[in-house]
Amino acid sequence: MEEIVLKIKTIGEPILRKKALQVKEVTPHYAELLSKMARIMYDKQGVGLAANQVGLQEALIVVDAGKGLYKLINPKIVKKLGSQTLEEGCLSVPGTYVKVKRAQTVFVEALDQDGNPVRIEAEDLLACVFQHEIDHLNGKLIIDYASFFKRLGIRKKTKNTENEKKQ
Ligand code: ZN
Repeated sequence: MEEIVLKIKTIGEPILRKKALQVKEVTPHYAELLSKMARIMYDKQGVGLAANQVGLQEALIVVDAGKGLYKLINPKIVKKLGSQTLEEGCLSVPGTYVKVKRAQTVFVEALDQDGNPVRIEAEDLLACVFQHEIDHLNGKLIIDYASFFKRLGIRKKTKNTENEKKQ
């Protein structure tokens, strides 16, 4: 069997800006991808990971913010309540933290890895992580919430990293 190797994509790679494709038919292939994504998330000590962060185009996310592992297909937020501002990091934007204002409570609808519909009510950190990962599926990154001057700094840093890679 062909082994699919997944690696974290970092800012500057076009797939991070692409909108994910909805999964039309849930097959065991997606369960396998979700397990691999979960392994990478735990490896990197992340609390969530979206498929395009590892170079996949489908709408898949994994989340574990201390309340169990969620492996979701085609997740969408159907309701938001309240607000909270947390400082967020991202495996695809290494070394950068941005304060992001988000809803305090969200209701997420998705399919589980067997294709069954699920509805999750999440609050606080878990709600924040769902919003962060679903942003990824829409091509959105935490730097989009940063101020203009902070973005300038991030861009400069990214440019340096890219140069370092080439050397
Ligand atoms: Zn992220």
